[in-house]
Amino acid sequence: MTADRQDQHPTARLLIVGPQGSGKGTQGVRVAEALGIPVVSTGDIFRANIKDGTDLGKKVTAILDAGDLVPDELTSEIVRDRLSQDDAATGFLLDGYPRNTAQVSHLDDFLSAQSAALDAVILLDVPREESMARLGLRAVEQGRSDDTEAAIAHRLDIYENETAPIISEYQERGIVDRIDGVGSLDEITARISAALGARGIGQLV
Ligand code: AMP
Repeated sequence: MTADRQDQHPTARLLIVGPQGSGKGTQGVRVAEALGIPVVSTGDIFRANIKDGTDLGKKVTAILDAGDLVPDELTSEIVRDRLSQDDAATGFLLDGYPRNTAQVSHLDDFLSAQSAALDAVILLDVPREESMARLGLRAVEQGRSDDTEAAIAHRLDIYENETAPIISEYQERGIVDRIDGVGSLDEITARISAALGARGIGQLV
């Protein structure tokens, strides 16, 4: 982090956004580790529940496989529970939530009840062809059951129709950092760190 230690932001409540295949999962983990904050990835929470065969997992399996969105109320409840844990008190990095304007409102309500708000939104900018190529590679490497061609196309459509509009909402608040998501992993992490540093967001631990 390049932030002046004297001038550090006391909280780091972050959201990373980008189309599927933008590398947001990988970058989110790197940035959160550097800052000492937990990653809260709704996709990872759902996948872990599916793998463990929990009631929640059974409820959402077909939804994930189709590339559809899990109902807002259920997703928001899971996020509220996770963000209420002690390790997320002053900072967290959300990956995959909020994903539409209704979820933005849920998150706003939850945070404002604690006199808190998101500090920054990292928007990873990656051309559609590059995302598609990376997703094809991930399908081969990780064998995710929702990385079929049809589900990928459906998820990209949902991103463009439902998730992209939340960015303008956050832009109006002046908290969006648009980051060029093409380059080496280290280069992209350095770009994100520099943007957060410019906001005075540095290591919390
Ligand atoms: P991801 O790993 O973020 O691509 O999420 C994988 C899948 O989990 C999505 O395609 C949705 O089915 C579900 N999911 C993850 N986050 C959300 C969310 N915020 N709202 C609704 N569904 C979600």
